[in-house]
Amino acid sequence: MTAPRKIATSLARHCANSRVGLYIHVPFCEAICSYCNFTRGLFDAARARRYVAAVVEEIRLASAPLSVDTIYFGGGTPSLLEPEEVTRIIDVCRSSFSVSGKAEITMESNPESATKERLAGYRAAGVTRLSLGVQSFRDTELVMLGRLHSSVAARRAFTFARAVGFKDVSLDLMMWLPGQKVLEWLESVEELIAIGPDHASLYLLEVYPNSPLRDEMIRAASTQAPDDVAAEMYLSALVRLDQAGFQQYEISNVARPGHRSRHNMKYWMDGQWIGFGPGAHSTVGEERWSNTSETSVYLDRLEAGSDPSCAHQKRSPEQQLSEALFMGLRLTEGVDVAAIGDRYGVDVPTRYGAELQSFIDDGQLVEEGDQLRLSREGMLLANEVMAVFV
Ligand code: SF4
Repeated sequence: MTAPRKIATSLARHCANSRVGLYIHVPFCEAICSYCNFTRGLFDAARARRYVAAVVEEIRLASAPLSVDTIYFGGGTPSLLEPEEVTRIIDVCRSSFSVSGKAEITMESNPESATKERLAGYRAAGVTRLSLGVQSFRDTELVMLGRLHSSVAARRAFTFARAVGFKDVSLDLMMWLPGQKVLEWLESVEELIAIGPDHASLYLLEVYPNSPLRDEMIRAASTQAPDDVAAEMYLSALVRLDQAGFQQYEISNVARPGHRSRHNMKYWMDGQWIGFGPGAHSTVGEERWSNTSETSVYLDRLEAGSDPSCAHQKRSPEQQLSEALFMGLRLTEGVDVAAIGDRYGVDVPTRYGAELQSFIDDGQLVEEGDQLRLSREGMLLANEVMAVFV
């Protein structure tokens, strides 16, 4: 296999002075949720064993003298992996890269597979942060979404996480579910606050065409609330989370002080990361590539000693500038336009000022010296503002 070696050389050149994140995509789930649009398939133990061997090999072959300060297991459902399998993957990350002793190592986990023994095994493997896919504390909503867990299982998983020593736990919640009312959504928010995680991610449900959820909505003549109600759900949840001591730091993310997701900050702050596993994306300097998203093709390629990546591109300076601006605007502190302009040799106010002015005049964008940020109301129109940079 030659391509990963070339990648390793390129990585070492681009990342000499910066810390890199590693993303490991685990493409299995116990059942497929009715709204899901991610790269995943049904869990099968024999296939999972092949996957672990393949991803370990992929990481080993990309080995390079790079400083790594975050590792993120995403999916799919990473918590379907056995603790010994997670240990193998973390160990090969450590032997292939220079992983900091203080690295943040996150694992996404579904409540139904988060037993106390399993979570203790992940802690022992080196996982430092748990992200629990709760989505709702209302059982009728969980059933509609095709989730396998109940609200009781979600609470139990959180209790287990704390009991085995996780000091960094995040919960995901989903709003704007079909037929959901503002007060019903806020019940889940209140429950989250009562449980007391360190971090929370709040997403608006996106109903994809051809998803089973879309079919079910048509059958049941059920719809999502109008946009102004979705806006009310978003803003009222953030007000409650502010009151409860969380700080919003990104459009969809809040954290207690010191508990931001360091890995995800790399996506928003023009950082660098290498992805392993089916469908994983990597961005290192001007280089960007992604792996085949077909798990069977991914396994066949690695078992045959070939490169699992399928799309490579060199990002132009223009593209890097545009991404640094629109990804950075997702953060509540926004972007330092002078610093980004210096990095890419562009005067940002001269280039984009005229188009941005109407958003500033309407209060969606706020200018504070060189800092440009979205107001909270502006976050509801983030896509329109960010389109200026694309
Ligand atoms: S657990 Fe996540 S990745 Fe798996 S099917 Fe459900 S939404 Fe998709």
